[in-house]
Amino acid sequence: MENCAACERPSVYFRMYSGEKLCRGCFLRSIENKVRETISKYSMIRHGEKVALALSGGKDSTALISIMAKLGARFPGYELVAITVDEGIAGYRDESIRIARKRCSQLGVDHLIVSFEDLYGFTLDEIREALRRDGVGLGTCSYCGVLRRKALNSTAKAVKADKLITAHSLDDEVQTILLNVIHGDILRLPRITPDVERKIPGLIPRVKPLREVPEEEIALYAFLRKIEMQKTPCPYAKESMRNDARMLINTFEKKHPGTRYTMLRSFERLSSSIRTSTIADIRYCKECGEPAAADMCKTCEILSHLKPE
Ligand code: SF4
Ligand code: ZN
Ligand code: ZN
Repeated sequence: MENCAACERPSVYFRMYSGEKLCRGCFLRSIENKVRETISKYSMIRHGEKVALALSGGKDSTALISIMAKLGARFPGYELVAITVDEGIAGYRDESIRIARKRCSQLGVDHLIVSFEDLYGFTLDEIREALRRDGVGLGTCSYCGVLRRKALNSTAKAVKADKLITAHSLDDEVQTILLNVIHGDILRLPRITPDVERKIPGLIPRVKPLREVPEEEIALYAFLRKIEMQKTPCPYAKESMRNDARMLINTFEKKHPGTRYTMLRSFERLSSSIRTSTIADIRYCKECGEPAAADMCKTCEILSHLKPE
């Protein structure tokens, strides 16, 4: 490969969508700068805030916690704490918890581990079993996601965090856009656009500093920085429709570099007009009191399958 466009050192990466060739140092800096710019562009974090980062132990969240700790040391102004959710997936979660724990101790970040079993009384494996028995035709990821979001929100609330940081990448965002369109959930689109000003009592605002970084660049960042991460995928991941969305978008991106950014920008423009015309009513769950879109929140609805009649 030729030399870096910025400094003439040998390049390690060709950024297809911009045509730049980058050396190791310039590539790593470009990712850290992108995260810093994204945080400031959407005013994701304010000075003095406590931020809780959802750390699964996979590549995206372990890379992000390393970047956040680095930025925090260079531009002090936020307090970082990590939360790992143990869903209770036999043979899968233990390794990622070990990695998450080790990374936090290396970075000197406080680390909390919460489990579905402690919070809801059942592991994800048990919940999956019960839903299958009741003939509920939902994919495992759809309810795992609901239960995890609630676990993260309640833990972030318990530690008095001002923001909840998740490691969603550009690919995750674009897949969500496509899935919302496929499911006919177009009115949910504004939710993916950062809006830290929209305060909902009981809900810690969620921000995604990696939302403009493509997945392959996060992987390369983690590789070049020698960040340990869990490589085995969750056994239920292949069941999800998100996998199909990923393959479709990747095909487009390969043939037409830049597709992911174009999709994100198009939907951001669209979502601001949807936002002004439809501000969804927020209600509170009659069972647990947490914010919900209906009388009962999705978590309580899922758990109702596990309660004795
Ligand atoms: Fe949960 Fe699906 Fe992620 Fe597995 S892949 S941890 S089931 S959301
Ligand atoms: Zn360079
Ligand atoms: Zn509830």
